[in-house]
Amino acid sequence: MRILILSTTTGYQLRSFGDAAARAGVELMFATDRCHQLDDPWRDAAVPVRFHEEAGSLQAILEAARARPLDGVIAVGDRPVILAARVAEALGLRGNPVEAAAASVNKSLFKRVLLQAGLPVPWFVEARSDTDPSTNDRVRYPCVIKPVGLSGSRGVMRANTPVELAAAVARLRALLSRKDVRAIRNGLEDIVLVEGFIAGREFAVEGVMTDGALQTFAIFDKPDPLDGPFFEETIYVAPATLELSIQILIRDRLQRTAGALGLANGPIHAECRVTSDATVYVLEMAARPIGGLCSKVLRFHGIEGMAAASLEDVLLRHAVGQDISAIVREPRAAGVMMIPIPRRGTLKGVHGIDRASAMEGIEEIQITAKPDQLLEPLPEAGSYLGFIFARGSDPGQVVRSLKSAHSEIRFDIAAPIPVVASLSPEP
Ligand code: ADP
Repeated sequence: MRILILSTTTGYQLRSFGDAAARAGVELMFATDRCHQLDDPWRDAAVPVRFHEEAGSLQAILEAARARPLDGVIAVGDRPVILAARVAEALGLRGNPVEAAAASVNKSLFKRVLLQAGLPVPWFVEARSDTDPSTNDRVRYPCVIKPVGLSGSRGVMRANTPVELAAAVARLRALLSRKDVRAIRNGLEDIVLVEGFIAGREFAVEGVMTDGALQTFAIFDKPDPLDGPFFEETIYVAPATLELSIQILIRDRLQRTAGALGLANGPIHAECRVTSDATVYVLEMAARPIGGLCSKVLRFHGIEGMAAASLEDVLLRHAVGQDISAIVREPRAAGVMMIPIPRRGTLKGVHGIDRASAMEGIEEIQITAKPDQLLEPLPEAGSYLGFIFARGSDPGQVVRSLKSAHSEIRFDIAAPIPVVASLSPEP
């Protein structure tokens, strides 16, 4: 068995797929558009691709697959999902239709599809980033402005007044003119969306689609309010403390959203907001698994011979067509804190990890920011200082453990060297 992993990153998640593949006796083939950075941990050369050059990339993969036939394909991260769909279509592998994958990565198209399907969508206005959306008479306040083609909450800002919206537009314009954003070249770099702010609790859902049917692995609570002005993820905890009727409603809305998009097979990661009158708004349904280290928060029962399986163990089996309907998340509560970057600056030191690690319920702490790395918070950049993982008998205890551990860790962040004003405008 051989599975193609399409990815932009070279980090933990690929290692985790590598470990899972070794356990399953599956060979992995990689295709990445940062092949020069791949440290080739399995001594298995990656196929070099460019996600914005789909036809050429598809040809390169099909060429490689002639010599080394593929039994499955998995996209890691948002950028490869369309190419993954093309590969699946060309080789008859489990995957999503190309149009469904395309709608899942374009926030504007996504909303139009939901609207057409009669699913709840806030009002929204699409605009070019060089125009002033605050003059559009459909704009109401509070609203949220976001780039159509970025992910990870990058560039997502709340505005309560026309003045705040004008400032957010200027800030977003500066972000969209950055070199790293221009390099994405998905054709969406200059388009922004302004939409109604949805007040409510937010949840993330991890699952998998099989022939159009959604299997939910976990509904994660995001216990810290996400009210803006920026929307940094911090804690995810499962199971979410939520009435059964709302859980059923979330599953139903996600199933209908997947149906409207046409997502058929493969992992999904969704974000939704539930208002006080129990309306479920699906903000995003991505055709990929939860990102980076976070997948470690999930452990599964139901794979023969494995006491606890990883998300990657499950997804590899699913990709090659195995039946995973009996696989369930462990019953224990589990959570992860994505340690937020408090301010822009250079990381000079990290203290208190040993004390934090010894706290009740804490399973692991990984600091992923590197010494002397320039740290940049949202909305311009969206990485984290690291990750704290906890497990316990109930979600409340897990959240308390994560917060206590976080409060023990001290990050020394030196003030940044002043940069050219146009690259870092103030809000
Ligand atoms: P991304 O794909 O970059 O994560 P999203 O559209 O999912 O972008 O938005 C990121 C976060 O911003 C959401 O998880 C949510 O917290 C917040 N957000 C986005 N749109 C809205 C909205 N209309 N109302 C309230 N919060 C929102």
